[in-house]
Amino acid sequence: MTIRISLTAVTLAAAMALPVAAQEVNVYSYRQPELIQPLIDAFTEETGIPVNVAYIDKGLVERLKAEGKRSPADVILTVDVARLAKAVDAGVTQPVESELIEANIPSDFRDPGNQWFGLTTRARIVYASKERVAPGEVTTYEDLADPKWKGRICTRSGLHPYNVALTAAAIYHLGEEGAREWLKGLKANLARKPQGNDRAQVKAIWAGQCDIALGYTYYMGKMLTNPDQREWAEAVRLDFPVFEGGGTHVNISGMAMTKYAPNREEALKFMEFLTSPEAQEIYAEANFEYPVAPGSKPSELVASWGSFTPDNVNLMDLARLRPTALRLIEEVDFDG
Ligand code: FE
Repeated sequence: MTIRISLTAVTLAAAMALPVAAQEVNVYSYRQPELIQPLIDAFTEETGIPVNVAYIDKGLVERLKAEGKRSPADVILTVDVARLAKAVDAGVTQPVESELIEANIPSDFRDPGNQWFGLTTRARIVYASKERVAPGEVTTYEDLADPKWKGRICTRSGLHPYNVALTAAAIYHLGEEGAREWLKGLKANLARKPQGNDRAQVKAIWAGQCDIALGYTYYMGKMLTNPDQREWAEAVRLDFPVFEGGGTHVNISGMAMTKYAPNREEALKFMEFLTSPEAQEIYAEANFEYPVAPGSKPSELVASWGSFTPDNVNLMDLARLRPTALRLIEEVDFDG
């Protein structure tokens, strides 16, 4: 009898607490749902906390601003440090203090003010024709401006965020004037006007239109697992160029907590879960990327493409140099 009464009391207390704590996490994601679903399933299984994902194609920051305090979003997921920095500048994020997250994310891959955290990296490298380019022919990004590559390079638009970030890294290493010359040299070596996405450049190598192309590493995995594109992938090798005195250009996928997160506690749990080495490995494998947690490893397939030293440019510098990079790309009329 006594037991029965106390149980009722507990149930009542829990029921009264319910409207205060919704016990869920809402995510606004620039990343495709299939990349994060395995992680969400694992998190919900472990904690019982459901996670709702709204996939957003563009205007994530604008949407958060418009929604203000009424926004249901707790966490944002995106790629490119510039996008994360943009969210911070727009005032739609809040700092997150967590010893666990700090232990799992090396300081190079998180905001010094704890506003955003990187989860995986991808390297912007050179896809080289196995037939027409010898191993070791491409060693530096600077080399891509060498006239020996005249008429042999393909790339997507210079104005695409992926190439803007690479140009920002070039400014960091070569200075503004050096980066302008580099862009001019690269443009002079193009086999055709910048067009298409990263995979379209590999297709162009396969078709004999060019010999080397700029692209992100993970597209190799995407092409190899797509029956229509496998042949393109098999025509190329990944070469990992470095900036002289630096390393291979990388960018991150990352996350931040929204300023008005209604489910702060659950969101923190979700973010901590995402940073665990196990979760990073699942996340990285889903998109053929590299996890950043100490001791974590990329998948066997990704590791088989080769290893590299990530560039030493601070990710915040990459974000900060973005406007200058855009201006240079326009000045040299890179896409023209
Ligand atoms: Fe992409």
